[in-house]
Amino acid sequence: MPELPEVETVRRTLRDRVVGRRIESVRVRERRLRVPVEADFDRRLTGATILDLRRVGKYLLFDLDDGAVWLVHLGMTGCLATTAAGLERHNHVAVDLSGGTTMVYNDPRRFGLMRVVRGPAPELAALGVDPLSPEFSPESLRGMARDRRRPIKNLLMDQRCIAGLGNIYASEILFRAGVRPGRRAGGLRRLELAAVHAATRVVLEEAIRLGGSSISDYRDGEGRSGHFQMHFNVYARDGEPCRRCDARIRARVLCGRSTFYCPTCQG
Ligand SMILES: [Zn+2]
Repeated sequence: MPELPEVETVRRTLRDRVVGRRIESVRVRERRLRVPVEADFDRRLTGATILDLRRVGKYLLFDLDDGAVWLVHLGMTGCLATTAAGLERHNHVAVDLSGGTTMVYNDPRRFGLMRVVRGPAPELAALGVDPLSPEFSPESLRGMARDRRRPIKNLLMDQRCIAGLGNIYASEILFRAGVRPGRRAGGLRRLELAAVHAATRVVLEEAIRLGGSSISDYRDGEGRSGHFQMHFNVYARDGEPCRRCDARIRARVLCGRSTFYCPTCQG
């Protein structure tokens, strides 16, 4: 499932190819995404010029010159790319841009979302801080953790607190910070929370530098795979030796999700 680094990679690879272009035509072949593509979606996009491409959490936001925003969430298996090579089967939406570029939305499991919004979008209003924004600080993380009995991993993945992290990056961040995923957020010491904050930035920035993680379907805006999966320290490595201390990585289920950690490096 694409998390923040994958969505940010899509944004960076698409941005230069789409900003300043006019949307010439829109072809919707399949409207049945997680939220059905609205009947007037094609009409509302056609003719608009893309002024900017931004990201908030796991959402992509195309700012249009008529003041509306084209909102995209990639769901579990969504790809938005200007090259459609090898992705033809589940191409649900194609957007033709001036200059001859076509952007294609492909999504085998159809958990994505795509709509045109005017004014504040309820999806975005419910989101917490973006972990790459200045609003995400050691102090704001301390505020979120205060008095929370739930595990720190659960807090990291709660989109209403921090927008953009999922199972992969929450696991990798807590390894980097040396904190067990099941520890109660409210019981972490100040220094431990500072380590979680610092690890969040480091892990996300490294993952973006490597083009994100391609586990199954994820591709960037040019149809290429990411490489961060080669650098996982704990995610999906249960039974394998820790890269730092050689102990075996363990797996346990926490809040319904498989969680991976090193019993020695993470206290
Ligand atoms: Zn270890």
